[in-house]
Amino acid sequence: MVAGYRFIRVDGKKIAEHRHVVEQREGRKLARNEIVHHVDGNPLNNDPDNLVILTRSEHQRLHHMGAKQRRWTVEEEDRAVELENAGMTMMQVTKVLGRSISSVGDHLRKRRKKVTFSPSLPLRVR
Ligand SMILES: [Zn+2]
Repeated sequence: MVAGYRFIRVDGKKIAEHRHVVEQREGRKLARNEIVHHVDGNPLNNDPDNLVILTRSEHQRLHHMGAKQRRWTVEEEDRAVELENAGMTMMQVTKVLGRSISSVGDHLRKRRKKVTFSPSLPLRVR
């Protein structure tokens, strides 16, 4: 379940309020591929003027843009692994590197795959 959204009941069915507001505004049902995005970033601001319909891939792109603006360097990946091995949580590594949690997660996973496991190298598995 997505946290932070307001849900309402319409004709006995539970629906996310922001989707319902847009359906009323457009006068039609939304397709599954249509994602309603909150322009101001506040998931509780369901003012019709704050809601825009994006395709699933457009929405994906929008939310990953910040992380993709800077390319990851090998040094930064090394640092992420180092910090994680030093006992920092992924959330803390995220803050240190100024990256999104999903971006840090992707790169740590990518790196773990490259590393061949040896008993002298303890890798944290969550
Ligand atoms: Zn969004």
